[in-house]
Amino acid sequence: MDRSRMYRRFRTLLIANRGEIACRVIRTARRMGLRTVAVYSEADRGALHVEMADEAVLLGPARARDSYLNVERLLEAARKTDAEAIHPGYGFLSENAEFAQACAAAGIVFVGPTADMMTAMGSKSGSKALMEKAGVPLVPGYHGEAQDDATLAKATDRIGFPVLVKASAGGGGRGMRIVRSAPELAAAITSAKREAKAAFGDDRLLIEKYVDNPRHIEVQIIGDSHGNLLSLFERECTLQRRHQKVIEEAPSPTLNATQRETVCAAARKAAGAVNYIGAGTIEFVSDGKDVFFIEMNTRLQVEHPVTELITGIDLVEWQLRVAFGEPLPLRQDQIRLNGHAIEARVYAENPAKNFMPSVGKIRTWRVPAETNGLRIDAGYRDGDAVSPYYDAMLAKMIAWAPTREAAIARLNRGLEETDVRGVVTNIPFLSALITHPSVAANAIDTGFIERELKTLAAAPPPAGELEFCAAVAAILDGEAKASKAEAQSPWQTFGWMPVGRRERVFSFRQGHGAEQKITLRYGRGPATLAVSERELTFVASTADHGGFDLTLDGVKTPITAIIEGHELYLRTRNGRFELHWVDPFGGETEEQTGEDKIVAPLPGTVVAVLAEAGAKLEKGAAILTLEVMKMEQTLRAPFAGVLKQIKCKVGDIVQEGVELAEVEPIGE
Ligand code: ADP
Repeated sequence: MDRSRMYRRFRTLLIANRGEIACRVIRTARRMGLRTVAVYSEADRGALHVEMADEAVLLGPARARDSYLNVERLLEAARKTDAEAIHPGYGFLSENAEFAQACAAAGIVFVGPTADMMTAMGSKSGSKALMEKAGVPLVPGYHGEAQDDATLAKATDRIGFPVLVKASAGGGGRGMRIVRSAPELAAAITSAKREAKAAFGDDRLLIEKYVDNPRHIEVQIIGDSHGNLLSLFERECTLQRRHQKVIEEAPSPTLNATQRETVCAAARKAAGAVNYIGAGTIEFVSDGKDVFFIEMNTRLQVEHPVTELITGIDLVEWQLRVAFGEPLPLRQDQIRLNGHAIEARVYAENPAKNFMPSVGKIRTWRVPAETNGLRIDAGYRDGDAVSPYYDAMLAKMIAWAPTREAAIARLNRGLEETDVRGVVTNIPFLSALITHPSVAANAIDTGFIERELKTLAAAPPPAGELEFCAAVAAILDGEAKASKAEAQSPWQTFGWMPVGRRERVFSFRQGHGAEQKITLRYGRGPATLAVSERELTFVASTADHGGFDLTLDGVKTPITAIIEGHELYLRTRNGRFELHWVDPFGGETEEQTGEDKIVAPLPGTVVAVLAEAGAKLEKGAAILTLEVMKMEQTLRAPFAGVLKQIKCKVGDIVQEGVELAEVEPIGE
């Protein structure tokens, strides 16, 4: 193969992806002086990556197979914009050898390895056979061609329980089963085959010894078209949920220097076996002592930033240089490991509801500044919609510091200072996870999250004194700003109101809880807030952290508040709180402005109808249950009313936005 033709200098790069990775690639490409072309689906018309690129091409409808996975349309988009190269990002077509081949055939540089290398490493069985030959350590197992039950059972006998049955074509943890005893084997094989066939169109399996207390360790490698191949240290990604990474860090806190060099050498050997070109990752499973090859990913990984932060290398820049046909800029002995980096994946999902994806419009997206070792790779911003069609990862937050402990503390602070409204996120879960004592002690394995789920996904604490007082201060602040007469408002000037003493009562509700009254007294003397039996002196002042400082009985604390109508979002030292301000003048009419049409939030199947037409419903009463993305979601009455109509029946498959029922408010 003539590599000088495949890898050459180009000026225009098309990014065949969306979300944070498209934005991240565009950023580096621009810095290198390239013209960038984004592609998008109908669901992503206003997306951040479209805005960031120099040009953008609409691929087609929202469904990935009509847009981001459509090879023809991608090549057409490249032709239309004179793009000479395509960066596939991760996911979508990034590991699809046919796509790499189609790019080559169309004379387009594919930023990645050749189709041959992808094919050689693409199947877990095939790559293991290669690694065995190259002398890379493997988990004891079977990865042969014969797939009949007797062969698989015999292999299992030889390996010994527990074993892991895996789809050879697998990815994303699908088609994987842990089998602990012989009687379970046949059923596990049948179901893994079925899942593999459905997910990958290939039901071939392999069997591995299940490594106890497994840790996930992987090595970043990169090769150029001149025969140079480097390892860029390892990452540890042991904090996983359902075999999906949640937190990643570099270097691994589990390995000592000798083990580090061993695993990096094994990775270079593995990639060297196919004369690898481009960025890639060699994944290993470890029992804490030894490492065993499990698979190679022939693309950039989600977690590549932790490697960038400890090496100072921009991996996308290096990918592009390799695609230009340049040699790698450094030698192995010039790659230095500096400090520690840790990354958290921020998802629009609800940990308290089995991590159900949360879709909708992002009404607030506020992240802290990227200073003090904090980096935020986001694909969304205020006002963007999170759609059900794609992965629900919103952003990655990555922190660097000289030590692991300090990096964790910085990451946690970054997570704590992030405000997202409109969709539910896993941010509190991520904070709970990285501050867990077992994580600090590195006493974890890949099953840790599943075992600790109850504590990690615990419901937030109820609002207390501090939050109710902050809510009052936030309302006064809002009123002061609205009246533009700050000098005369009680805000900041409580202490010296000249005449008398005035009183004002505020009432709040959290969720479906009881109302809480707070009495503000101001005028002559210090202002006070009375919550339940207690009365606290109260001062508030604007602060430069974006919110305000609230001083209660002499204790000053920073508050972040966002008010939208009568809905308050507060972030205090105790966490995040959403309160409803019950307006003394407006009565509760705003309660009834909720949508009276019950619509499907996501495409799904109606699995239960829980109320009958004509029934009187309390606010929050269950109306029907949808099964969405394999999880059940109950739709409820947005206010007290009468169920006027049910417009679906059990078994109906409904599209997003379709009206399923109608509730009429009582008292209209
Ligand atoms: P996928 O391609 O579906 O992500 P992998 O083979 O990469 O599947 O495995 C996913 C995760 O499962 C790994 O990160 C590791 O934690 C765990 N795993 C894989 N193989 C083993 C094994 N033999 N023993 C224990 N855990 C394993």
